[in-house]
Amino acid sequence: MKKVTLKLLALFFPIQLLFIYILKQNPTWVETYYSNGFFLFISQLQHYLTSWIPFSFGDLFYSALVIIILFWVYNTFRSRFRKIWTRFLEAVAFLSLIYFLFHLFWGFNYYRLPLHQTLGISIDYTKEELHEFTCDLIQKTNTVHSDLVSHDSLKVNYEFTQNQLQQLVFEAYRHSENEDLQIPYRVENLKKSLFSLPLSYAGFSGYVNPFTNEAQYNYKIPKYKLPTTMAHEIGHQLGFSKENEANFIASIITMEDENQFLRYSGLTFALKYSLNDMYRKDPLLSEALIAELNSGVLENYKEVQEFWQAYTGPLELVMETIYGNYLKVNNQPQGMDSYNYVVALLVNYYQQEHIINY
Ligand SMILES: [Zn+2]
Repeated sequence: MKKVTLKLLALFFPIQLLFIYILKQNPTWVETYYSNGFFLFISQLQHYLTSWIPFSFGDLFYSALVIIILFWVYNTFRSRFRKIWTRFLEAVAFLSLIYFLFHLFWGFNYYRLPLHQTLGISIDYTKEELHEFTCDLIQKTNTVHSDLVSHDSLKVNYEFTQNQLQQLVFEAYRHSENEDLQIPYRVENLKKSLFSLPLSYAGFSGYVNPFTNEAQYNYKIPKYKLPTTMAHEIGHQLGFSKENEANFIASIITMEDENQFLRYSGLTFALKYSLNDMYRKDPLLSEALIAELNSGVLENYKEVQEFWQAYTGPLELVMETIYGNYLKVNNQPQGMDSYNYVVALLVNYYQQEHIINY
């Protein structure tokens, strides 16, 4: 690349930082002109380009990026750090370009209005309200669980192929009549991750590639977890960049679907967050609540826990640190802790004029 291009690209980096600083103060602009404007157009174009490819094109793109970086490091060492200024310029220019594309294609969604504001709901709730919501979830979970197994002590088996589960989740999105969320689901663009094994060790169930807008899921995780994972990644794909908001969307879409297996995945997913939050507020009460659950439900939780335990290693810790920092950089100051914030959305959403629809 010409040196002048490199210089311009490098100079563009601090300008982008300033621009993002301004956007952070003006979420309404982002909501109106990006999330409900430009993003709808650009994501449609990305889907048009990548949804028909049977494997994750974005994973190949990531692999290529890694190769380019390794090649750059190799060359820098081989030339014994000669032309170090040019090398530095190359690095900043590269970073600037990636940073720009990341935001243009998807990342600006991090600065949109918080979902509770769009939905017009509060995020405060009392312990009593949480208790009531959790009891409701437990009762519904037990009912669905009993319908799906021959005995309460058995876990629910998901005798589906991954493709079948995928289709069920697509249908759930298509059929969602949720008027508040108005989820504009149009294109199916969900792929198995080519990196599922390292992903398992790193403790990740899936991700969206902002450059191609493909959603990837880790196909090694237990099938019982797949519906909520797929729904979560599709939530990201639709422009809900933040973890807690994607979790909220995934809960609503699966819990309210007519398919019992999807409901069961969704109810137990939301319940886990509620129980964890309850545990922080009142450990004894939370234990009493857990005792009310059919024991087979706990078997499903255990299955997931055992899966992740089988893959624990130092990589998981490293990834948690990196991802925690990534979240902090991208406007989610609570980092990994914000995962439990989904409870605030759920409790308030279902309290204010909504009921879980069945
Ligand atoms: Zn996510």
